[in-house]
Amino acid sequence: MNRLLTIILFFLLALGINESQGENVAQGVKVIVIDAGHGGAFPGASYGGYAEKNINLQIALKLGGMIEKNMPNVKVVYTRKTDKHFSKNLRADLQARADIANNANGDLFISIHANAHPKSTATRGVETLIMGESKLETSENEAILFANNKEEFFDMSDKSTAAIVRAHIQNLQFTYGEYSEVMARLVQKHYAKLGRVNRGIRKQPLRVLYATDMPSILTEVGFMSNSAELKYICSEKGQMEIATALYESVKEYVTYVKKSLLIETPQSEVKSAPAPAPQQQNKPKEQPAAKSSKTYYAVQVMASKSAISTSDSRFGSYKGKVKQVRADGAFSYKYCVGEYADRKAAQAAVPTVRKVFPQAFVIAVKDGRVVTSK
Ligand SMILES: [Zn+2]
Repeated sequence: MNRLLTIILFFLLALGINESQGENVAQGVKVIVIDAGHGGAFPGASYGGYAEKNINLQIALKLGGMIEKNMPNVKVVYTRKTDKHFSKNLRADLQARADIANNANGDLFISIHANAHPKSTATRGVETLIMGESKLETSENEAILFANNKEEFFDMSDKSTAAIVRAHIQNLQFTYGEYSEVMARLVQKHYAKLGRVNRGIRKQPLRVLYATDMPSILTEVGFMSNSAELKYICSEKGQMEIATALYESVKEYVTYVKKSLLIETPQSEVKSAPAPAPQQQNKPKEQPAAKSSKTYYAVQVMASKSAISTSDSRFGSYKGKVKQVRADGAFSYKYCVGEYADRKAAQAAVPTVRKVFPQAFVIAVKDGRVVTSK
């Protein structure tokens, strides 16, 4: 987890350095890792003479090509560009994919898979998985997922495994806000635009997502067990549409990251910003939260390189209601709303805050500073 924080910090620092060169805050997402699911000795599902591993690879290459062509500032790293596996042992194979992503300092991990229903040929549609655990999962969905990828999931019925995985899931939300979920939402939105059946986002304890230290999604591009969908996801047209939907999602995600984490304080603002110590006593509202050794939770709405007045119009309806807290890194001024004793309560406030700040996420605060995990 700390590695990701290091990446974020590095990235923030890099931005600070670039600022003098007039560069934009454009590089929130520098490396995107594309993982074509399965490969080599692991073909995935097989229907009508088609192997899932090949469909996944074809779409992965198309998506990667689009990003390479149109987003020159983003580096694409593929876990595989050919029909291969990384280890005969499936768990080691999944870990190897995550290792590639982690070693590349990926900012986003996209794993591409195709679905299959063991019993129903009528089932169709698209869904995107993120790391997590869902109690609301229907038994039908569980059946599909487990029939396809049983080994790719953690066995949550094993108590010690479940404890570790749950701690990880909490930590993950903590570290990334909800970036994986944002990406998953975008992907499903763009699929739906194509008229695909939207099966939604699912939180699942997936090994490959567990091992990747970055916002990560696993997207299921359609059901191979449905003949019409199989035809579509194997066709050039279908694959181009799917890759385009993913590409559009990537583009929006990159913009989202830029906007959500980082607010460049305009030059005029910097000049009028209160100069060091003495003046600050005139602005008691901007002081960090009252000293207290207790950790509380809040919803972060903005971050900035320099202090912003809490009554700045950019806070919209939260003008005057935000609190400033500090953190490490170049964008060390964080602005948040609410003060909750536990994470759950803060989380419950997020949907309301997101009506004004779609990128809002929960942070923990102690002594006026953002508490980082571990
Ligand atoms: Zn698969």
